[in-house]
Amino acid sequence: MTGLSGLRAVVTGGASGIGLATARALAAQGAAVAVLDLDPDAVSEPLLGLRADVTDDASVRAAVEQAAERLGGLDILVNNAGIGAVGTVEDNPDEQWHRVLDVNVLGIVRTTRAALPHLRRSAHAAVVNTCSIGATAGLPQRALYCASKGAVLSLTLAMAADHVREGVRVNCVNPGTADTPWVGRLLDAADDPEAERAALNARQPMGRLVTADEVAAAIVYLASPAAASVTGTALAVDGGMQGL
Ligand code: NAD
Repeated sequence: MTGLSGLRAVVTGGASGIGLATARALAAQGAAVAVLDLDPDAVSEPLLGLRADVTDDASVRAAVEQAAERLGGLDILVNNAGIGAVGTVEDNPDEQWHRVLDVNVLGIVRTTRAALPHLRRSAHAAVVNTCSIGATAGLPQRALYCASKGAVLSLTLAMAADHVREGVRVNCVNPGTADTPWVGRLLDAADDPEAERAALNARQPMGRLVTADEVAAAIVYLASPAAASVTGTALAVDGGMQGL
């Protein structure tokens, strides 16, 4: 398929999980794709891997400029890099709050700030943020993570309002629990990973986790010209979790 032919995309956190699935799906639709990640060597052609730490403004600016130069401009920005935290407000020290908010929220601010001058020159500019059902659902033992994703949702709506008249659309996806290396690491840390996985599947309305490819498909839609009138929305890809 070539629905995104001629479009140029940057995906942060694109070396693993949802980001990697998204980068591959965008490329499969014909887009030229740069992955900005701490681990850029994890991606291979046709993806262009560039090292960037979204907590470091200079590193983000340099990588976005390099991506725009190598790809000949930018049309699509997928702000996907994110980290988690387990615990209640009594468990996470201030330093951890600063760290997670720095990656999950300020990371989006830095990358978008660097990309906007390029996006404004595109006839099909779109930003898609990877948010979470945690933005609106009170997940137990995830106070910090939920707060960070609540901020991502608010930021998405505010950016959509700020940039709509410049022709830059901004949306987010809200995945439920998705089967990625991140979730694999959490399961591996359990006493009995297989039993934990079975219990996790059983808690899902569909009896299984969401796949990274399913989240990627939603991101590709929101990033594509097919969604030309869609801005300021959150698309849940959660197997029915939020509605139940
Ligand atoms: P993952 O750990 O598999 O991949 C995350 C990627 O982000 C990695 O490649 C990592 O190197 C990169 N990254 C982390 N910190 C970075 C930084 N400072 N600078 C640049 N890159 C950085 O995780 P995933 O499960 O694919 O999650 C991707 C996104 O999806 C995150 O924003 C996460 O919050 C969100 N999400 C995941 C789930 C889930 O269940 N997996 C559910 C809802 C939302």
